[in-house]
Formats: sequence, structure tokens, C-alpha cells
Amino acid sequence: MEYKIVVLGGGGVGKSALCIQYIMKKFIEEYEPTQADQYRMQTTVDGESCYLEILDTAGQEDFGAIQDQYVEKGDGFLLVFAVDSEPSFKDIQQLHDRIMTVKEQSHFPILICANKDDLDTSQHIISKQQVADLCSKWNCQSKETSAKTRQNVDESFQEIVREIRRQ
Ligand code: GDP
Ligand code: MG
Repeated sequence: MEYKIVVLGGGGVGKSALCIQYIMKKFIEEYEPTQADQYRMQTTVDGESCYLEILDTAGQEDFGAIQDQYVEKGDGFLLVFAVDSEPSFKDIQQLHDRIMTVKEQSHFPILICANKDDLDTSQHIISKQQVADLCSKWNCQSKETSAKTRQNVDESFQEIVREIRRQ
């Protein structure tokens, strides 16, 4: 089986860092912010081999046509926000609505990544409760991730594969 996973979220939340950490097992401090990339890899989830096509999106500043193309392609989505950014938390809510509109569904495989969890707790602006509320509203899961420490990086990609399979 092949699954198309689209990584969406505001600028600077760590979409590229998460993809690169997952695929190349390293943390990048600097990555071209306007660059979108596509990766293809083979992996095994729950003993079942699959191919993942991972789309690291960019240019979310203009929500619109480009983004809808990304959304149309996806079998599942990682919605990434950064725990130190209120606007990025709003962005994923807008993205969620867009996904459901484009897919003409009320539920679709998505997983929320609360990224940059490694930051000092004093920098955490979005609370665990706010994320939990969104998860129950959308009937989805979330992971507290860090592209820097690799926390929950593999788990996020594995879990979205499970969500797609369950669909
Ligand atoms: P993108 O625009 O969503 O692709 O964001 P990038 O992956 O380019 O990351 C933006 C900045 O945040 C870069 O300086 C990254 O090194 C940094 N960053 C990404 N993920 C993390 C993380 O989990 N923790 C910390 N501390 N910094 C991160
Ligand atoms: Mg990027």
C-alpha cells in the first residue's frame, strides 16, 4: 500500500524539521522556508510494509489554490503548530476546516502535532487542555512532538498511517 501524507501548518512551526528528522534522522536548524518537498520512503507499521509519500508543504501565507492542491492529494494530514505560537494554533483550525471542505467530509485522517515541545515550559503558550479540546471536537489524536529531540516523531507518522488504514 502507498499512503500520501501531507504536512500542513503555519510558517516556522517545524514542518520541514519534522519531515527531515523522520526521514533522515537529523535536526536542521535552518531550512529554506519557502521550499516544499516531497519524499518517498518505505516503512513498516504494525508489521505491514507500506510506502509513504510525504509532502512537506510551504507558502501557507496565501491560503488558497496551492494549498487546495496539497489537500486534494492527501490520504492523511499532520496538522502542525508550535506550542509557543498562538497564531499557529489558529492556523491549524483554519486548515482543518479547509481539509473538510475540500474532501467534502466531516471526518478525515488527521493528527495534530504540538511541536517544539522541547521548549522551556515558560514558553508554552498553548495548553494541553486547548489541544485536548480540539481533539475531542475533531475526534482525532494529538502528539507532543519535538523535531529537535525526535520526541514522538516516528510515532506521529506511524499513527497517521494507522488512521488512514482505519478509515
Ligand atoms: P516550517 O516553516 O514549518 O517548515 O519550519 P522549519 O522546519 O523550517 O522550522 C522553523 C524553525 O524552527 C527552525 O529554526 C527550526 O530549527 C526550528 N524548529 C523546528 N522544530 C523544532 C522543535 O521541535 N523544537 C525547537 N526548539 N525548534 C524547532
Ligand atoms: Mg518548511
